[in-house]
Parts: sequence; structure tokens; C-alpha cells
Amino acid sequence: MRVVGLHRDVLVVTSRVWQTACTIVRNGDECFVIDSPVFPDELEALPAVLEHAGFPFTGLLATHADWDHLLGRLAFPAAPLGVAETTAARLAAEPGGAARELRAFDDEHYVHRPAPLSLGQVQALPVPGHCEVGSEQIELQPADGHTADGMAAWLGWARVLVCGDYLSPVEIPMIGEGGSRDAYLATLRRLEPLVDAAAYVVPGHGDVLDGARAAAILREDVTYLAKLPDAELPMARRSPAQHEIHAANVRRTSRPPASRS
Ligand SMILES: [Zn+2]
Repeated sequence: MRVVGLHRDVLVVTSRVWQTACTIVRNGDECFVIDSPVFPDELEALPAVLEHAGFPFTGLLATHADWDHLLGRLAFPAAPLGVAETTAARLAAEPGGAARELRAFDDEHYVHRPAPLSLGQVQALPVPGHCEVGSEQIELQPADGHTADGMAAWLGWARVLVCGDYLSPVEIPMIGEGGSRDAYLATLRRLEPLVDAAAYVVPGHGDVLDGARAAAILREDVTYLAKLPDAELPMARRSPAQHEIHAANVRRTSRPPASRS
């Protein structure tokens, strides 16, 4: 696990698996943890990271309902979890789904966890909207298309954008279950002015980006999505794992063959 400071009020913790990012944001005497690392030792270390930084924990936020972003309660068991209304709806429609997928991951990788995941009380936040932290505001913008749900968080006073599973330097755009190309492109258009204003962009997976690099990835991703199903993979994201994601994207964006009559 890696910890990087982006601003006096913003830290990013990166998990050893899928470079999953967790953003810790403080203002005054409040502090939110957005998304989560994955492995038990990383989650166990999280409260100490906050304590060391002098950030007093307030609550959890999650950018979307994919299980690898929802593990904050394993580090802060009694904490409230705030999510977009779309994410709350998805969690309600799939009760226990995140815990099941976490168990499957743990079984596959022989990971032992001291306790199972329980999401507890989930608070649905209106998006677009905002969430107060100290005397500042976290601006929430809809971010769907990768999945049917989600939000991006703009930390305006620090010029940091936490965008969930978009603008990744290690993963091509993934049109997942419930996602769509049109919604994905609309999200990228919505994020563009924030990317232009950002000092740093924190993607759900991969290194923190400066604004210029994030803008370049945004352009690559728009081109890739617009050309699907015939798109070429972006130059720096062509590993076998990315080809698998690409094949799934092609299936989701190909018209079914015209039936002969
Ligand atoms: Zn993810």
C-alpha cells in the first residue's frame, strides 16, 4: 500500500491489487474516506494513516457500488456510508452482493479476513449535490456509464477530482453490467471542465494524474468509446487483461446480427 499527499487536506492510499485508490479528505475537524483499499492489512492500517496525519474521521463515501470500492467499513466498522442515490438503489437491488463478491475474491486469492463485510446504514446523497466537510464542500457529480450508478467528487479548494472508475491510466474504459457507452461518454463530457480545473485527478485504479495527463486520457477514452466496436486500444493500455475488457466492451456495443427471413 502506498500513501501520497496531494494537498494539506488530501491523501491518497493505493492498494496493492488493481491499484485501487482510496482518497482521504479533511477540512477543519472533519474527514471523509472516499472508496477503500482491498487487502485486510491495508484496511487495518487505514485508521493509523488518518491518526498520523491528524485527520479526525467523520464518515465514508463511495464513488460507486462495485465491491472493491466499498470496503471502508472493514476499517471503520460503525461508520456511516454516503453514496449517490443511484448507488443506494443498486445496493438495495443487490442485497449482500458486495459481500458475496468479496468472499469470492478472498477464496480465489486465499485471503483471510477477520470479519465479513456489512455495509450497515447507507445514506443516499442527492447527486448533483454536495457534502460539507469542515468549512468546505465536496461537490458531487453523477458518474454513470461504467456501471448504472456512481458519482465523482470535486474537492474545489484543493483542486482535486476523485472520479471513480473513469480516466484510469491502467484500465481502458470498462462498460460493465448496467453501464452504457452513451452514459460513459456523457460522464466524460461532464468531467471535462473539472479535469481542466484540476491540479490532480484520482482515478479509481492507477496512479494519481496531474490535470494535463488526465485530460490526455480523457481524449483517448472518448476516441476509444466513440469508435467501439471497431476501436483500437489506447497505446499504453494493451495488456491481455485490457484485451479481455475490450472484448466485453465489443460484445456490449455490437448490434445483434440481422436475422435472416
Ligand atoms: Zn473499480
